[in-house]
Amino acid sequence: MHIQLLPSSFDAHGRANEAQRLTCFLVDDRVSVDAGSIGIALNEAQRRTVRDVIVTHPHMDHIASLPIFVDDLFGELEQPIRIHATSEVIDLLKRDVFNDNVYPRFDELRNERGPVMEYVPFETGRELKVAHLTITAVPVNHIVPTVGLLVSDGKVTVAFSSDTAATEEFWKLVSGAPHLDALFIEASFPNSMRQLAEVSKHLTPAMLQDELRKLSHNGMDILAVHLKPAYRKTVARELSELGMDNLSVMETGRVYEW
Ligand SMILES: [Zn+2]
Ligand SMILES: [Zn+2]
Repeated sequence: MHIQLLPSSFDAHGRANEAQRLTCFLVDDRVSVDAGSIGIALNEAQRRTVRDVIVTHPHMDHIASLPIFVDDLFGELEQPIRIHATSEVIDLLKRDVFNDNVYPRFDELRNERGPVMEYVPFETGRELKVAHLTITAVPVNHIVPTVGLLVSDGKVTVAFSSDTAATEEFWKLVSGAPHLDALFIEASFPNSMRQLAEVSKHLTPAMLQDELRKLSHNGMDILAVHLKPAYRKTVARELSELGMDNLSVMETGRVYEW
């Protein structure tokens, strides 16, 4: 399984840099988990192969350029872009984003070959197929309805926490998987900002360490993501001070393989 955290910050010469302002993971160049930078950071080949988008929650950093992605591909799509999410999240996308004010209701529009965008609701706690992947979503503890994901291709299994504060069901789900190759977990704020992390329902490195105690697997790769750019250096240092060999900050743009 190949997983890439798409870049979302660029310097004045257009070169991508390490700061992560938006969230969008690409799995095997086919399925995206969240869509923050999907409309600005895919290469040409990926633009032709990504047709399934899982939206964990409707915060802007997770969907910012999703409307642009659909818009760009409008004329050339031979199948719709499928938006996989809970019905709660789909309702919010319909009300707040694809509402004919912020952007068109693409689910009601067609090109010459058919519909261009389709909502595919899923239920939490149940396995579902998205492209070649088997996925289970469960609620996590964020300020809007949000899911964490367990994702398997039959050989490799990985888990995405999405945005969350301290949570329970996700760790039960992940601990119940036969094995785990990689965990993508958020670490938004430095330890000194724990109060803000708790109010906005995110994690600090110390909180992340507490969460990992709920996980029965060990030894998998742990990739920290969602570091707020303003505090990136401090959060990265605090993560390294946890002294875990298998924990690192995920590099944007790099293709990881398991
Ligand atoms: Zn969020
Ligand atoms: Zn976020």
